[in-house]
Amino acid sequence: MTAAETRVYKLGEFHPFSAGSRRFLYLVPAGAIFELDAAAQSLIDRLASREASHDQLVAELTAPGFAATDAHELIAELYQSRVIVAGDPTVGAVYDRAVIDRTYSCDDAPTDFPLQTLVLNLTNQCNLSCQYCYEFGSDKVATPNGKPKFMDFETAKTSVDFLLDQSAGRRSVHITFFGGETLMNFPLLKQVVTYARDRAAGQGRSIDFSMTTNATLLTPATIEFLSENRIGVTVSMDGPADLHDKLRVFANGRGSYDVIEPRVRALIQNHRTRPITARVTLTSGVTDVIRIFRHLKNDLGFHEVGFAPVTTSPNRLYAINDRGMDQVLEQFHVLADEYLEYALRGEMHGFSNVSDTLSELCQGVNKSHPCGAALGLVGVGPSGDIAPCHRFVDSDSHALGHISTGIDREKQRDFLRRGHINSKYDCHTCWARPLCAGGCHHEAYVRYGDTGHPNLHYCDWIRDWTDTCLRIYGAISVHNPEFLRVFGERKALS
Ligand code: SF4
Ligand code: SF4
Repeated sequence: MTAAETRVYKLGEFHPFSAGSRRFLYLVPAGAIFELDAAAQSLIDRLASREASHDQLVAELTAPGFAATDAHELIAELYQSRVIVAGDPTVGAVYDRAVIDRTYSCDDAPTDFPLQTLVLNLTNQCNLSCQYCYEFGSDKVATPNGKPKFMDFETAKTSVDFLLDQSAGRRSVHITFFGGETLMNFPLLKQVVTYARDRAAGQGRSIDFSMTTNATLLTPATIEFLSENRIGVTVSMDGPADLHDKLRVFANGRGSYDVIEPRVRALIQNHRTRPITARVTLTSGVTDVIRIFRHLKNDLGFHEVGFAPVTTSPNRLYAINDRGMDQVLEQFHVLADEYLEYALRGEMHGFSNVSDTLSELCQGVNKSHPCGAALGLVGVGPSGDIAPCHRFVDSDSHALGHISTGIDREKQRDFLRRGHINSKYDCHTCWARPLCAGGCHHEAYVRYGDTGHPNLHYCDWIRDWTDTCLRIYGAISVHNPEFLRVFGERKALS
């Protein structure tokens, strides 16, 4: 008798879903999607009621006429894909203990991971006073007192050199310009683009650039520079004037919509080399997702629009309560249905919350950490302090080192160890963990005071949304698989 023939099988860990009149499994340990044919479906349905031995499964599969060799092959394939797992009754029917142990053993997080992205906070100053801003609002983690307000060229140059040194083996790396308001230090941005491009070219490598802005300082000359240099632009904008102006205000309380609207139109019209994205922060009273999407996409012409609920402690006035989150989800579903209709016609819809998840699914993402923070990505503040990402910049308690001396590997290791999915006990039985991995470290800190705490306040929401995206993926893969091709390369930065 072979080892396979002594096994007793039961179902592995997966999330089943249907799409395009087919059945699929989202295989959790692998973060992979598996489409079921009729024979696999009957085997899964059989094991759903109780475990079965190898011989029983073969007998039941062959009874309706399935060839015995095909039955053996199917069982082997499902076992290798971990759709089914097995134990050997002769040694106590321990179901794939090795697999379980490997999944949850807490390995030391890698600290020699090559950098991919550097977020340069060119300034910590902003000409708006958005009340929910994580940099200036009540939940801020930054401690900027006594530190420079604007990055200088020396610090920026050292940062670029650091990125190129620390990204060995990568042909292409990425710099994102951030603030405060990024364009308040536009002269430095221009210098960095020239310097970084020359340095990279000297090494036979390339650098891709992007930036985030509130759009108040965009001018024709700025737009021309951004377009000529293929700099991707994300505009922080919360919708039509009545919604945008609720919280995105100048220091005197005046809304910023009227100032940015003509500038955004000029940006979209004249920046010809990259798609322009709007990034919407949803807050209490600013949850009208569909109206916001229509305005930004159809009236203003953004190529893509992405939404994120505000990161805050739950007692702030602008925090979204559970009812608000449910309303957001309902509207996400409407846009997701629309997205699917577009995709089946081969057209881009522009709702980037779907596109970002499709990219992760196409790339088979299976995360040890929720994002690249302190792994393939770091942020650098005006002082040269290194932070896990842009949201922790200027925070003494989260600094991971300084650009002149490099990353403090012990601090990085501690951050990564706490943020590792294996450290998040509550997530170990969650099927959405390959994509969520516990959620944003910064949000976890603001909510729970620990960057390594899982964001348990909206797990049901995350699972519902992930299921929605899986079903969109499944339907597209059945009816228009070509459409998914572009997502293999796409990257998202939250
Ligand atoms: S935070 Fe919640 S949704 Fe995310 S992996 Fe953990 S349990 Fe799942
Ligand atoms: S998900 Fe959170 S911790 Fe990660 S890069 Fe984005 S803001 Fe930073």
